[in-house]
Amino acid sequence: MKVKKHNSKNLKIKTRVAVAAISGIAAAIIMTGVLALLLDIFLPNFYNFSSVNTKNYSLLNQVQWSQTVSAITMELTSNDTADVKEEKLSEIYDDIETVGADIFIQKDNGEYFSRKPKKEILQKAQSITTFDQDENLNYFGDNGLLIITHAKNDNTSYTIFITSTDYTVGNLASNNSNSSRLISTRTSIILLVIILILILSIIIMSLITAQTITKPMKKLTDGIEEISSGNLDYRIDYDSTNEIGITVKAVNEMAARLKESIKQREEMEESRKQMTAGIAHDLRTPLTSIKGYVEGLRDGIANTPEKQKEYIQTIYNSANDIERLLNELQTISLLERRSIELNKQEINLHEFLSDYVSEAKYTAKKNNYTIEYKEPKEEDKHIIVNLDAPRFSRVLMNIISNSIKYASKARDGKLTITLTGYDKSVIIALEDNGIGISDKNISHIFETFYRADQARTRVSDGSGIGLAVCKEIVEQHGGHIWATSNEGKNTTILISLNKVIKEVNNDD
Ligand code: ADP
Repeated sequence: MKVKKHNSKNLKIKTRVAVAAISGIAAAIIMTGVLALLLDIFLPNFYNFSSVNTKNYSLLNQVQWSQTVSAITMELTSNDTADVKEEKLSEIYDDIETVGADIFIQKDNGEYFSRKPKKEILQKAQSITTFDQDENLNYFGDNGLLIITHAKNDNTSYTIFITSTDYTVGNLASNNSNSSRLISTRTSIILLVIILILILSIIIMSLITAQTITKPMKKLTDGIEEISSGNLDYRIDYDSTNEIGITVKAVNEMAARLKESIKQREEMEESRKQMTAGIAHDLRTPLTSIKGYVEGLRDGIANTPEKQKEYIQTIYNSANDIERLLNELQTISLLERRSIELNKQEINLHEFLSDYVSEAKYTAKKNNYTIEYKEPKEEDKHIIVNLDAPRFSRVLMNIISNSIKYASKARDGKLTITLTGYDKSVIIALEDNGIGISDKNISHIFETFYRADQARTRVSDGSGIGLAVCKEIVEQHGGHIWATSNEGKNTTILISLNKVIKEVNNDD
């Protein structure tokens, strides 16, 4: 069994669109992630609050100060050696000195770390605001800032003073603006970049998706145009299980079927032409014969009563041939106009069949052919149908003569006829042991002028209308006709007819 590979070509359009949307969004997320990573690498201080970088009061600045204070506290209470502590505190001092602030750290009431004398620092602090050095304080005022914090490590207690007279509260809004503008500008840029990336990736993915849809669509429309312009040999080359693939397959199949039916119609038309030409030709033979024998009579060539009788018999036979051929022509025209009219009567089907078969048997015997009518079940012997007897005899005659015509040379020909009753219908089956019909042909044999073996064109062999006549007559009876066959073995023609169901009158 051929297993269809799951490749992208087979993706349903629905899935394709979904994949495009998801890929677009995923691509945007990945690109944004990469951008964020780049920003993190190249702009490490972007949101760095650990160092003080402004002399103005703001929420952001307050956070920065509180981080600075906690950095000092953490260092004081850490396990670092005295040298390391001093080095790190110096680094912090360097940072805050840039905004004009000073640090003074007192250890158990003794001086521990400063770059300025204790007196100077305390004076500066007092000029900013009043304070109690045992209490924590976070003062941001008009005169500057003063932060007092206490830290304890084991039995050692530290008091940290941070002072700055340069520090101003100023206009809150405008002071705020520096840092917040910085943030808002950068945020806007990032947002804009994300949106751009999103739009770009969706556009790219949509273009790719559209391409994968429009390309096969173009193939499809080009193909349909080519086929509809009359090139029925054209096949669209696109193999996929998606919606377009299914449509392409249907269009290709349609073209193939159209080609096949045109071919069939042409063959039938050809067959019809040959048949009419054949009949015209065959009419000439008995006519010539009639003329010849009539001349013989007229000119006294048939000079004995025996000869004259013989001539007259031949003329009569030829006239019969002409009549048969004319009947054939008439049937064809009736078939073409679908206007066979029936004269139906209620008939016992079993009796009709057994009468017909007992006569047909003798004719068949001359051809070394056996016809057997199987005795039906008792109740089936009383089935009544509405039948135009002469027309229905024609149906049986056509089927029987086909069985004889298409008998197998390998065995003695035999046709078995059965009758089986059902609830509302009855089926007549005529099974022969002839050459059979191929599966390819069997669905066509009831079509006018269809002949399984197209090589046979001579009228005397058949004209391809026998079964078409049967079909027309059976259908006019409200019945159905069909065939089953095993090529080389047998053919069964089945006819179903409606039973006439008599209402039982209980009053009788
Ligand atoms: P034809 O005049 O060619 O017999 P029909 O309409 O009677 O035309 O039959 C159509 C075709 O069906 C025949 O050409 C023949 O190929 C096939 N056919 C009909 N009956 C039989 C049968 N009993 N056995 C085999 N083939 C048959």
